[in-house]
Amino acid sequence: MIVVPLGTASATPTSIRHLPSVALWREGSVFLFDCGENSQMCMLQAGLKRSKIDSIFITHFDVDHYSGLMGLISTLQLQRREKELNLIGPKGIKKFVEWNLGFSGIEISFDLNFVEVNDDVEEIRVLNTDDYYVEARPLKHKKFCLGYRFQEKDKPGKVDAAKAEQYGITDDEQFKALKAGNNLTLEDGTVIESYEIVGHPRPGDSFAYVTDTEYCPNAVKLAMNTNILYHEATFGNQLADKAKETGHSTAADAARVATEAQTKLLVIGHFSARYTNLHLLLKEAREGFYPTWLAHELRPIFTDPSHERGIIEPKVELIDITKKKPHSGGGNYRGGRPSGRRSGGGRHGGHRSGSKNFRPRKSQDGDPSGNMGRYGTSNQDNRGDRYRQSDGSSYRSNSRGNRDYNNSDRNSRYNDSKPNKSITPRTGYDDFNRF
Ligand SMILES: [Zn+2]
Repeated sequence: MIVVPLGTASATPTSIRHLPSVALWREGSVFLFDCGENSQMCMLQAGLKRSKIDSIFITHFDVDHYSGLMGLISTLQLQRREKELNLIGPKGIKKFVEWNLGFSGIEISFDLNFVEVNDDVEEIRVLNTDDYYVEARPLKHKKFCLGYRFQEKDKPGKVDAAKAEQYGITDDEQFKALKAGNNLTLEDGTVIESYEIVGHPRPGDSFAYVTDTEYCPNAVKLAMNTNILYHEATFGNQLADKAKETGHSTAADAARVATEAQTKLLVIGHFSARYTNLHLLLKEAREGFYPTWLAHELRPIFTDPSHERGIIEPKVELIDITKKKPHSGGGNYRGGRPSGRRSGGGRHGGHRSGSKNFRPRKSQDGDPSGNMGRYGTSNQDNRGDRYRQSDGSSYRSNSRGNRDYNNSDRNSRYNDSKPNKSITPRTGYDDFNRF
């Protein structure tokens, strides 16, 4: 199971954060949780094929959570999709999609399987297959909002091949029977009990998607013992009142749910546009639940890194813009304008750019460009670190990533996309009273 955040903004996108959407990759299929504007482009950037989408789960009808849905359906139609698409959401999703299709005069070539959830439902399995099921529960938001849990069913235990050979079991059918839990009678009359050859069933992986909500018991139920919990952390502690007022969570709320649910890894997202430094939220969440990561758009999170690494490769280069100046060590940086996260960046040595728009500031540690010397010497090296950070089995490398983050906190001037400017627009048109 691979989780890829596609959009980590809340109601308003920023220049570096898209509207909410998270993709879950499993066995070649993609399950999309929310579909904010631009989700389909972000999928491409993440290296996820849109044709592989199996199901789309919409949490609620705040526009930021479904504004990309019609565009995506239109693309699937243009791609001549034939496979059925599951569309799951609160009651009304069918009407919305069908009205839009009718309005645009689109007759789609594939079946839409709508699963609508009424607002009086306490718990419902919205999908159920041989291998997995998806459960939905209402959360506590200003309007009816669903949280989801994707749960793989238990997998059969591992076969003890050496022992099987001792008994002379070689036939595939015999293995199948044993794996199914049946006992086996050999030709000489010996009865082999299934448990002698097949180990305990292995629990399936699980993922919970919990946004937008205040703290509520259903969030904990959805997240109970999950491998990965993706939980909103729209606000920091200072704005706890605003979180309550708007039906959202603080980073501490997310940590509380993770703690009570004993999830293995908490990933926080759905950040308010006001936060240019997300590490404030990370710090607050980690005070309550240490194994917390920030959702980073396009950066995959694995449940089984040893097998899953390399399956999904982002098509754009991920550059941590919070701590690097996107210029080459040779002084090729021009005009002080970073070329964005698609740019190659280049090696980052101790060189100081001569650009008048970019003057590195001395930090407590000295020249910020020197930071790289501690954690790697090039973008390439550094990217490797971050992928290691995505390794669910290694918290050591994670803490390394954390040190990095703390470091960038100190160099707050370098947070977000522009090295010497805050990227969040602060104009009279931004209504931060709401988000
Ligand atoms: Zn939202």
